[in-house]
Amino acid sequence: TISLFWFRRDLRLDDNAGLYHALKSGRPVVPVFIFDSNILEALDDRQDSRVSFIHQAITNLQTQLLKKGSTLDVRYGTPEEVFTALLETYQVEAVYTNHDYEPYAQERDKTIAALLNAKGIDFHTYKDQVIFEKKEVVKDNGEPYTVFTPYSRKWKATLTDFYNKSYPTKKYHRYFFKQDEMALPSLAEIGFSPTAITFPGEDWNESTIKQYTKQRDYPAIAGTSRLSVHLRFGTISIRELVREAGAVNETFLNELIWRDFYQAILWHFPGLVFNSFRKEYDNIQWRNHEKEFEAWCNGNTGYPIVDAGMRELNATGYMHNRVRMIVASFLTKHLLIDWRWGEAYFAKKLLDYDLAANNGGWQWAAGSGCDAAPYFRIFNPYLQTQKFDPKLEYIRKWIPELDELTYPLPIVEHEVARKRCLDVYGKALKK
Ligand code: FAD
Repeated sequence: TISLFWFRRDLRLDDNAGLYHALKSGRPVVPVFIFDSNILEALDDRQDSRVSFIHQAITNLQTQLLKKGSTLDVRYGTPEEVFTALLETYQVEAVYTNHDYEPYAQERDKTIAALLNAKGIDFHTYKDQVIFEKKEVVKDNGEPYTVFTPYSRKWKATLTDFYNKSYPTKKYHRYFFKQDEMALPSLAEIGFSPTAITFPGEDWNESTIKQYTKQRDYPAIAGTSRLSVHLRFGTISIRELVREAGAVNETFLNELIWRDFYQAILWHFPGLVFNSFRKEYDNIQWRNHEKEFEAWCNGNTGYPIVDAGMRELNATGYMHNRVRMIVASFLTKHLLIDWRWGEAYFAKKLLDYDLAANNGGWQWAAGSGCDAAPYFRIFNPYLQTQKFDPKLEYIRKWIPELDELTYPLPIVEHEVARKRCLDVYGKALKK
């Protein structure tokens, strides 16, 4: 008999909690990856960069596994179909995997656990993608934190070596099940073609992290880690990053804590996927003007910092955090378009798309989120530009026609939009 290890958001062979436990279980371990047809069939873009990223990551896993005489068993289908088929191929005693906190994933895992348990097979799951999950960092009375600063204080006070030490998974690699190579399906076989986007590397740069506090807000500078996609798919370990890079710069560590915070918020409040955290924000009379939304998506609002951000996103699948905040504020406050529209557009385009962080970021910008700024704080795109892109380097990179007549006039005047926003938000919130 064998154990199965099911890879999901943890596409690495070392310091992987669930894989470590599987390999230590004493049975040979067959590593498995599922191209989930429920997810893939819902994607509009057949050149989706996330699918290419995953494909590349599992190809890397395969190369490493072949060296150990093992192979990754990759299948396409719904998880239920695939598990039913896997149980026909192997004599499975137990299945191991890591926690995933998104509502879809939780439902999926419940279904798979039931399917396995009905056949007497254990389903073991572990915390891997965050330092603290679920109720590990909560208020003294057991309630979840909904404000970041006290959460981060408790997070830091709770952190010990126990929580951020690596799982020495490599030591047990000899327990991978030995069998002949199984060919991976090509991108074309699962209905996709390769992206034109190049992926950032997975090594962190010590000098970037040292300079992080000073440089992280300037989109023209490569002043942030660019690790988000690797954290998203687990091609790096959060424990290693917190231990090593987090020790170099506290501001950087705080960003990693934001990541845990939003995962915990989503786990405690799954209704956030559809609803505002502050319920009264669902009374806002959004304008939801389709043409204006299109102008925002395409980077044609006539606000250079907004347009540069959207063009960066469309071209690279990435947008600098400062600019994410500006474009999200602009959509929800200047244009009064429902944050869910912006959230959905980011979900389609971001290489690092993560439900918890994206929903958190959008609700923060709209003011409806758990730890959002008060609604009357409206970013002024011109002042943001003066502060964070004073020489217009970032803007000119993405808008070469900035000084030409072809560049559009502002879609709405700033002061008009500000007053309209205060009025509409004020009415909904009865202030
Ligand atoms: P760095 O500044 O180097 O930060 C290091 C890591 O910390 C990031 O890789 C990320 O994992 C984490 N992190 C940083 N800021 C945040 C944050 N505010 N919330 C949660 N985690 C954070 N991040 C995503 O990973 N996926 C998303 O879908 C996403 N959507 C966003 C939407 C909006 C509207 C906003 C305002 C922010 C969003 N963010 C999202 C957070 C942030 O913008 C990105 O994590 C960051 O820009 C990624 O670049 P980096 O890896 O260079 O970050």
